[in-house]
Amino acid sequence: MPITFKQTEHSYSQLPQLLFARVQPTPVTQPELLAVNDTLAETLHITRNEITSPDGVAVFAGNTIPDGAEPIALAYAGHQFGHLVPQLGDGRAILLGEIIGRDGKRYDVQLKGAGRTPYSRRGDGRAALGPVLREYLVSEAMAALGVPTTRSLCAVATGEQVYREIPSPGAVLTRVALSHLRVGTFEYVALRRDLDTLERLTNYALARLYPDRSTNGSAALTLLEAVTEAQAELVAHWMALGFVHGVMNTDNMAISGETIDYGPCAFLDTYSPERTFSSIDVNGRYAFINQPNCAQWNLTRLAEALFPLVVKEGHDEAEATVLLNDCLKAFYPQYTAAYQMRLRCKLGLTLETADDAALAQDLLTLMANNKVDYTLCFRRLVDVGEGADASVITGLFADPEAIGEWLRRWDHRSQQEPRAHAARAALMRGANPAFIPRNHRIEEVIAAALQGDMAPFARLHAVLARPYEDQLDARDLALPPGEEQWDHRTFCGT
Ligand code: AMP
Ligand code: MG
Repeated sequence: MPITFKQTEHSYSQLPQLLFARVQPTPVTQPELLAVNDTLAETLHITRNEITSPDGVAVFAGNTIPDGAEPIALAYAGHQFGHLVPQLGDGRAILLGEIIGRDGKRYDVQLKGAGRTPYSRRGDGRAALGPVLREYLVSEAMAALGVPTTRSLCAVATGEQVYREIPSPGAVLTRVALSHLRVGTFEYVALRRDLDTLERLTNYALARLYPDRSTNGSAALTLLEAVTEAQAELVAHWMALGFVHGVMNTDNMAISGETIDYGPCAFLDTYSPERTFSSIDVNGRYAFINQPNCAQWNLTRLAEALFPLVVKEGHDEAEATVLLNDCLKAFYPQYTAAYQMRLRCKLGLTLETADDAALAQDLLTLMANNKVDYTLCFRRLVDVGEGADASVITGLFADPEAIGEWLRRWDHRSQQEPRAHAARAALMRGANPAFIPRNHRIEEVIAAALQGDMAPFARLHAVLARPYEDQLDARDLALPPGEEQWDHRTFCGT
């Protein structure tokens, strides 16, 4: 039975033709289903049986177009590692349509790796199995951790080879997002000086993603304000979890505030602020600690793109500059407040006192100096908060004296808390995951999948679905890499 997408709409392709191209996925020879996300499927009115059926697999491989879909590739520009590329676009991604989910939200459903488009430049339009499984696992883990993110609906192997550094099996990932609008979409239109399209795009983004914000007479400023807030929250969440995105180019920053484009991303193991994972990030532009800066840099590019619209809305150029700058200036205070709030939760602190930021920073500095695993250390702190012996933490540090002293400071500060001990322990449990998608585990899972064994993928995926729960039979997945597993670099994801 051919499958049908229900409640499907195509609001994006009502926008001017400049913004997209109609395309068809390129069929593959031997599609085979690798993974399905049952709960997400249900939200999208699709059943597991539909996806696993041969007709379903054909749809998510790009071999047939389901009823209700109207495939397009989106156009965008972008600053990549600081350099403007005026013409990017979905070179290997094809949007099938927007499904209004059971929760009433509108979701883009996109095939990633489904063949060439007019925006492919020299690329093959394909994705390799490893990066597809990596994106599937990490995006689903991020969702379970509570971070806004694109989701993964399913992954299908193509039965064909793709050629990267070495030949690899190909795969198609079905990615689901609140929208695939990026900062680069706005740059694309602004570069072409098409003010009408810029205005329509801005109104579209606001209506779709921030419908509750009143526009105060300026759609452009309202959008910049909303995206700034969303990105401040998002990056604070990343920083609290130790997540490194790896390629924060403007084409990889979503207007929705979702984490998007999982390429060379990774979670920190030992806390090391300057850490990068991408093999192409030779100057450390997208190092862990630089992420708030990069977010603000990208927002500044969005502000520049919106500038002519603010002028069109009736401000002179000097005024427009001041107004846009005021929005951008809000980023750091918002980011800092959100980040500090998350750090306090990690420490089980509900009150806000003047010394909290220093208390948290001193712990981070000790972790950096002692090369301590970020996630494990905070999780052990939960145990100590619940009465475990301090040695579970001090044992992680080469210098137990210094951390011992820090623990006494923390204990002293905790005594000022009004909330019951149990409530604070619960707060800490919910802020300090036991399980993150550790790079060495992802690599193991991919290696097994390349041998045709999806069982390790399934196990890791299931454990990561409940990251804040102690799962005693999965202790191995909570541990940091051993010496021999350390220093994995991830590749560019392409
Ligand atoms: P990314 O680094 O994945 O964000 O991709 C940057 C740009 O390159 C986007 O416009 C992608 O669509 C495009 N791209 C990446 N990989 C490929 C590929 N294999 N074939 C065609 N285009 C690609
Ligand atoms: Mg991208």
